[in-house]
Order: sequence, then structure tokens, then C-alpha cells
Amino acid sequence: MSVFESLSELGHEQVAYFHHRDSRLRCIVAIHSTVLGPALGGLRMWPYADEAEALKDALKQSRAMTYRAALAGLNLGGAKAVLIGNPETDKSEALFRALGRFIAGMGDRYIATEDVGTTMEDMDLIRRETDRVVGVHPVNGGSGDPAPFTALGTYHGIRASLERRFGSGEIGRYSYAVQGVGGVGYHLVKLLRGEGAKVFVTDINQERVEPLVDEFRAESVPMHQIYDVDATVFSPCAMGGIINEDTVPRLKCKIVAGGANNQLESNECATQLEGRGILYAPDYAINAGGLMNVAAELEGYSEARARRMVGTIHDIVARIFETAVRDKIPSWQAADKLAEERIRAIRML
Ligand code: NAD
Repeated sequence: MSVFESLSELGHEQVAYFHHRDSRLRCIVAIHSTVLGPALGGLRMWPYADEAEALKDALKQSRAMTYRAALAGLNLGGAKAVLIGNPETDKSEALFRALGRFIAGMGDRYIATEDVGTTMEDMDLIRRETDRVVGVHPVNGGSGDPAPFTALGTYHGIRASLERRFGSGEIGRYSYAVQGVGGVGYHLVKLLRGEGAKVFVTDINQERVEPLVDEFRAESVPMHQIYDVDATVFSPCAMGGIINEDTVPRLKCKIVAGGANNQLESNECATQLEGRGILYAPDYAINAGGLMNVAAELEGYSEARARRMVGTIHDIVARIFETAVRDKIPSWQAADKLAEERIRAIRML
């Protein structure tokens, strides 16, 4: 498929190729939409097998960012930048500053932020050339670690899910199985235990589980048994694709609501969940807290403003469930529909 055919199929506005021989910069920036505002998207550094693979990733992820930002109520569009290279060996000051100059040349179309393979330090290097970057160090006006905000948003989304399922969003009345207690999972467990809830935890890395057992009296579960735990809410906070044909029949929970990206292996899995009476809080709605936090840098970072914004995830998730019931569609589809409706409405202004 030609590049223009790919752009037309997914509705992208622009793909930019940046090359700088001396710093060995090879970067593709895909802008999916700027209807709601400048397109914000992570800068991923990865040793892609070839350019086609890098482009495919940029196109797919940038479209997802448009939906994510739209649903989160942000005045931002969606983009993704992919830097071809090995993040362990191919980074240099010149590489990120060269990229920064190219980003500056895009005017108000693209705003970069951290992603897989890049760090806050890399964003600080880009910032030497342009202010069209967020996720910089707090001394440069940055918002710091996004994980606590993603966890806080997930907590608010869980409240909305409980309200929909049981009529009460009182966290402490229910039990939770949290898969993965890294940045997001750790902070989520802390919030849940703070309300006195029963919390089961697991992680591939046992060292991450122990502090939660010791400090917060969470209950440790072997990794492969987390799907079988008899808890009200299953909260995926590790990797994607974990709601699949093998795991759906095992789940004993009433709600799936967690911070991980791309939880559903396929949309059919969401239908299977619904068939078993399990409510699914769409991942890209419930885990938008980190994005909201980093976006708050654009107006001069304020933690109070970021927290207020993250609190809106409760209403966003509630509206998704209302739309799903009203239109008799699955929750993931309701989320997409609300995002598309907002983009359409603002496009007409
Ligand atoms: P992290 O790397 O800090 O934590 C992930 C944890 O999951 C690690 O402790 C890891 O050991 C564990 N893990 C990996 N495989 C596992 C398995 N098979 N079973 C159990 N545990 C396993 O990452 P994070 O920042 O906490 O992000 C977690 C998820 O949330 C990811 O899917 C990420 O894309 C998504 N997310 C994170 C943010 C954020 O602000 N950090 C924002 C949006 C979405």
C-alpha cells in the first residue's frame, strides 16, 4: 500500500520524515488529527526491522492518540513519532537536538512527549531547541512522573464502574485483583488500600510485590492465578492483550477496570466479557490521567489543575456506560463514538 493510501485509510493529515546524517537521526512523525488542537504524541525509540514497520506503528498509534485526547476532553489532536534506533546505544545530544529543530519547524502541529525507549532527559534535550515538548524535568516546568496520575484516574474510573454495576461507588466495600504493581499498579493499590479495600496483587517481579504486602497489607497471588481470584474488580496494570479467549472464561470479577494499554486482545473479547455479565471500562478512557497531567504543562504546570482534570475521568467513564446502554453497543464502541462526536462537533465551529 502506498503512503497516501495508508493515510487516506486511517484519515491521517500528515507524515513527516526527518533525517540528519551526522547525528544519524531517522524519525517519522505521523499527525493523525489537529482538529482539536496541536497533535500530541509520544516519541518512541525502537530498533524497527525496517521503515515500513516504523511507519505502520506511527500510523496506528497516532490515530489512537486522537481518540484518547478527544475523549479526555483535551484541546489536543493525536500524533506519534518513531525514532529508528536502539535506545541503549544510539542516543546522543545531537540526535535529540536535531529532532528538536525539526519539531520547531512544524510550528504548532506537533508536541512531543516521552514514550517507550525515551526518557525525561531526552525531552529536556529536545526542549533546548523547542518548547513543543512536554514531560520535561520539573525544573523546566515539567509535571514529573505520570504514573501516580494514571493511577488516580484509574481509581476514579473504578468508582464510576462500581456505581454503574452496583449503584454505589464506595471503593472500600469491594475487592480488587491488581495485575502488575509497577508505577501505575503500585499507586493504585495504595489508593485502594487507603479506603480499606481488600486488594490482591501480583507481579512478574516479586520484589515489587513485597513492599505492598509489608506496607499496605495487600495479599500476594501467584502470577498465573490472578485471573482466577474471586475479587469484584480485575485491574490490569501490566501489559496488553490480557483479556483474551483463555482468560475471559476464568474471570470471576464483575468489572474489568485497569490502567494497562490495549487490554483487549480483540473487540470480540469485550463481547465475551459482556456475555459473562462483566462490565469493561475502556482502557484508553480510564488510563488517561497521565496524559492529562502531562498536557497540563502546556498552560504552565499546576498539580491542582492536573488533579482536577484527572477527576473528570469519573464522569467520562460514566458517560461511556450511559451511551453504551442507551445505544445498545459495547463500552469500547461507546468510547469511540463519544470521541468521534466531540471531534465532529469541534470541527464544525
Ligand atoms: P511499569 O513497567 O512501571 O509496571 C508494569 C509492571 O508490570 C512491572 O512491575 C512488571 O514487572 C509487571 N509485569 C510485567 N509483565 C507481567 C505479567 N505477565 N504479570 C504480572 N506483572 C507483570 O509500567 P507502568 O508505567 O506502571 O504501566 C503499566 C501499564 O499501564 C502499561 O500497560 C502502560 O502502557 C499503561 N499506562 C501507563 C501510564 C503511565 O502513566 N505510566 C499511562 C497510561 C497507560
